[in-house]
Amino acid sequence: MKKCDICGVREATLKVRQLGEGGKPVELEVCAECARERGLTGTTELKPTVAEEFARARRGVGQEDEQLVCTGCGMTFAEFKRLGRLGCADCYAGFQDKLEPLIRRVQGAVRHVGRTPGRGPDAARAKLAVRQLRAELDQAIKGEDYERAADLRDKLNRAEKDAGS
Ligand SMILES: [Zn+2]
Ligand SMILES: [Zn+2]
Repeated sequence: MKKCDICGVREATLKVRQLGEGGKPVELEVCAECARERGLTGTTELKPTVAEEFARARRGVGQEDEQLVCTGCGMTFAEFKRLGRLGCADCYAGFQDKLEPLIRRVQGAVRHVGRTPGRGPDAARAKLAVRQLRAELDQAIKGEDYERAADLRDKLNRAEKDAGS
């Protein structure tokens, strides 16, 4: 996390536009304490980046995470958090309950992909799409490309609905 631009000590949690030298607007990232002390108005909350969200989630390893084990490769969710990558293609399904909230949380930072209009879904094709999307999602998570993962998760959900599974 970035340090506050004013005190340089506390973690910056707010963003504020100020007039800097020469009357040019500058964006400061400040802590709540400094914002209050200086009476800064018009602050907006700093959104953690996708990477930070995941880093944070990875740091918080609970007992529950040690007990959540992928039936495919035997990797625990705690290991996934440490390594940041899945062990096998089944991991996503195995860790879905835990991955879901993570992915949902970063979704705010991801531009929304609209529903593709098309003809009625063909179940066989949808099933194939589900398989492909699962593989792509796995790749995205392995590559720590969580924005892509969130996007693919969306597509996967829709494809699964179309496939009737
Ligand atoms: Zn400060
Ligand atoms: Zn696995």
